[in-house]
Amino acid sequence: MPHSDAAESVAAALADVKRQVADACRACGRDPATVTLIAVSKTFATDVIEHAIVAGQRVFGENRVQESKSKWPALREKYSALELHLIGPLQSNKAKEAVALFDAIHSVDRPSICEALAKEIVKQGRAPRLFVEINTGAEPQKAGILPEQADAFLRDCRDAYGLTIDGLMCIPPADEAPAPHFALTAKIAARNGLKLLSMGMSSDFAIAIEFGATHVRVGSAIFGERPKPATQ
Ligand SMILES: *Cc1c(COP(=O)(O)O)cnc(C)c1O
Repeated sequence: MPHSDAAESVAAALADVKRQVADACRACGRDPATVTLIAVSKTFATDVIEHAIVAGQRVFGENRVQESKSKWPALREKYSALELHLIGPLQSNKAKEAVALFDAIHSVDRPSICEALAKEIVKQGRAPRLFVEINTGAEPQKAGILPEQADAFLRDCRDAYGLTIDGLMCIPPADEAPAPHFALTAKIAARNGLKLLSMGMSSDFAIAIEFGATHVRVGSAIFGERPKPATQ
């Protein structure tokens, strides 16, 4: 691939985020190897994503099944050891494609999704890591299980659907301090014996690491500002 300013700027931003992740880990006595940086590449074209891959990044996050399907099969053919995480909402009718395409799904949030995922995991013999999304701010427009319903939902995931849930994910309300939301998510995970915590974005990943995040989802700090979508 030709050398370019865009390639340099993605590589520099990625290095800077990695440094900040390591600093945040050191500040709270954690081993940086316990935090996975997910580079959120939604809305960015494959040539931009390739700059990050060439710079050494292997773990990526997307929020739409359809968009991922058009971008990632070709990248997976070209580069080895890529890991792809679905961080956006999942519809039951996309479960088949999601199980085939993703290595982790962060948005498990209702029984119909559990049922569809369980069926496809058995059928395809492929089990992405699963995170249950917690709506810590109880925001009506947001996906996720309410905190007070989390224990029962996690029990159902296991007992009614036979799913192995690996961790929890949260997206704190945009207008609130994130720390209490990270703390609540960590607490629900701990009492349910879940080891993985997907929390922290460009603006707050250092705080999330302090509260135990094992997966931080960082987009704009690596790839730059996204064009604003018409809806959402
Ligand atoms: C877009 C997105 C991110 C990344 O957001 P940035 O602020 O660009 O880092 C993280 N998590 C989810 C669920 C997202 O949809």
